[in-house]
Amino acid sequence: REGPTFDGVTLRIRPDLDSLPAYVPGKTFPGAVKLASNEVTEPPLPAVAEAIAAAAAGINRYPDNGAVALTEELAKELGVTTAEVQAGCGSVTLCQNLITITSGPGDEVLFGWRSFETYPLATRVAGATPVQVPLTGDAVHDLEAMAAAVTDRTRLVFICNPNNPTGTVVEAQALRTFLESVPGDLLVAFDEAYVEYVRADEAHRIDALALRREFPNLVVLRTFSKAYGLAGLRVGYAVADPQVITALGKVHIPFSVNSVAQAAAIAALGAQDQLLARTDAVAVERERVTAALRGFGYRVADSQANFVWLELGADAAPFATAATESGVVVRPFAGEGVRVTVTVPAENDAFLAFARSWIS
Ligand code: PMP
Repeated sequence: REGPTFDGVTLRIRPDLDSLPAYVPGKTFPGAVKLASNEVTEPPLPAVAEAIAAAAAGINRYPDNGAVALTEELAKELGVTTAEVQAGCGSVTLCQNLITITSGPGDEVLFGWRSFETYPLATRVAGATPVQVPLTGDAVHDLEAMAAAVTDRTRLVFICNPNNPTGTVVEAQALRTFLESVPGDLLVAFDEAYVEYVRADEAHRIDALALRREFPNLVVLRTFSKAYGLAGLRVGYAVADPQVITALGKVHIPFSVNSVAQAAAIAALGAQDQLLARTDAVAVERERVTAALRGFGYRVADSQANFVWLELGADAAPFATAATESGVVVRPFAGEGVRVTVTVPAENDAFLAFARSWIS
């Protein structure tokens, strides 16, 4: 983006931001099959659309800053108190706010890599230091190495499960061992943006909300953007100890969860049986897509999310460019791989047709 600029004047903007890349979402175009952002393809259910229209009639007023009705619904649904829930403008905001309440210059924020790009970006915006621990060869979080990387300066840990962009999940016992081995006052954010898609075996089954009762330093992050189909409205939530929720309340941007989003989230919770039923179909499609891709010769991680990760190395960018030219938009991570959303069969087939032709 080019625009007018002062000749020779450097404005007083933090110079350390110069080296920060901006967050770049997947680009799309009319008619494209968009598989770049892990959204659901289906439009809102009628009950949700009605709640949105009703709330829209009142947008001359500010929203409820505390999202009281939504918080109460969530607390009831999750079996926690309202003092343990904080809604946010997308769970991405809650990631940022967790960094804000824990970390500043000289502090470390620890996470596996590769994972969700917001972790390093928001850490650096806060002036803190990202500490990135490489995933294992199977693209899974190396929790042992992460525990070993905790220092006196570590203020926050992110564990993304399933991990974006690999889709992999950690073992329940490995998570427990991790939580037992790190200081009990260190916040561990367990980012479950894709939890509704998990169909894990016994060894990988994790009830993070139950674990919180043993480990009060555990923070669970969830979103309405994925399985609940409200990506455009920006609403997510944290479940955490009241100390954390109180601090999050202090850095919450006033009114940032808008009234339409609050109403839609409540309606989506009310329709969750229908919405979550769709995740069964995605889980079946995920296995089909993974098997087909492996059959074509791709290296694909074991995903428990609504996307798959193709380890393509240097071919990642050319693969994504060619996919876009064929009308299918996927998400490249240059030099590493490509993340592709799994949605409805027709869209998945469009991607598979491209993937087959590309490798042959
Ligand atoms: N966490 C992870 C792992 C994600 O992939 C995303 C979305 N890309 C988010 C959090 C944020 O989701 P939202 O802000 O839409 O709630």
